[in-house]
Amino acid sequence: MKNQVPALYIHIPFCDSICSYCDFPKMLSCSSFQDKYIDKLIHQLENIEQHNFETIYIGGGTPSSLSVPQLDRLLSFIAHKFDYTDEFSFEANPENLNLEKIELLRRYGISRVSLGVQTFNKDSLHLLNRKHTKEDVVTCVKNLQQCGIENINLDFIFGLRIEKFSDYLNNIRLAFKLGVKHISYYALQIEKGTKLYAVPEIRKDSDELADDYDYIVNKLAEYNYQRYEISNFCQRGFESRHNLVYWNNREYYGIGLGATGFIDHYRLVQTRNIKKYIDDVDTFASRTYEDKNEDEFNFLMLNLRLEQGFNLSEFKRVFKKDFLQVYQKELVDLQNDFIIDDKSVRIRPDKFFILDAILVDLLHFEKE
Ligand code: SF4
Repeated sequence: MKNQVPALYIHIPFCDSICSYCDFPKMLSCSSFQDKYIDKLIHQLENIEQHNFETIYIGGGTPSSLSVPQLDRLLSFIAHKFDYTDEFSFEANPENLNLEKIELLRRYGISRVSLGVQTFNKDSLHLLNRKHTKEDVVTCVKNLQQCGIENINLDFIFGLRIEKFSDYLNNIRLAFKLGVKHISYYALQIEKGTKLYAVPEIRKDSDELADDYDYIVNKLAEYNYQRYEISNFCQRGFESRHNLVYWNNREYYGIGLGATGFIDHYRLVQTRNIKKYIDDVDTFASRTYEDKNEDEFNFLMLNLRLEQGFNLSEFKRVFKKDFLQVYQKELVDLQNDFIIDDKSVRIRPDKFFILDAILVDLLHFEKE
């Protein structure tokens, strides 16, 4: 019998405006496309035989940019067809998640909301082409809490040249004051095809980024947000259960434009072309079989992002070999980067910022 797939991801690609740094599969909101898109999503979801998941995640894009009737249609379909045991997450932007939509989320069982905030600094928000204000975030968090959704994440970005430690401190302090349980803090990436690609100097250099990261990790810990993944911090018990499925290299369905799934050793990537997604029967851009070597590579790459690393006996159970023996040679050179005991392997807390370089040396893959 087929194993239960633990997670279901559903992608909503629409955004009311496009942020200057964004490389995700997304497009400007367009009402006529949105209705057809939801038809197609529902059609694909209907074809999933499994009904129970540990976690369901609606991400984007900006799921909260859908209208109330569109959201109602999608969420009611999901709530009737699927059940979850651990977490049902919804991504939103503070400026378009009004009280009416929050009540809808509550009604259909959403248990966690992740808000795209990036910073509370007004000038930085302008540079990033974000459309919300600090006040929008405060109102949105309070509305969510009043409606009974306490499990809230705020997404932040660091590394803009104009931002100082004091900006990061303001962000963390306000999140804490609002009673937010989870914070993601990502380094700004300058991606090809984005507006910021033309002005790479807008981002700090790698030494400055390392200092910023250090400061942020320490400040978050002072405010009781413990790092559990390289970019994710929370109060005890509020880890993102859905993202842990990814980091533990477990299986998941990925439904929607540009979404990726991982089932039965196949990495399934859907098209990023909206017309093709809506009109075609086969919406996959690629289906790639991942053999044991790739599986091992992903296992290490993903699990080592976690503060707790991975269990040596789990590695042996999955790959039928001993990690310490197989990587004996590499571990001699990397001994100062890992903490290894008789049970587990993890990255030293002060080495997280250079995780990519450590992985290159451990796994011998080409740096981009
Ligand atoms: S960062 Fe989020 S809100 Fe901004 S364009 Fe990308 S998907 Fe849309």
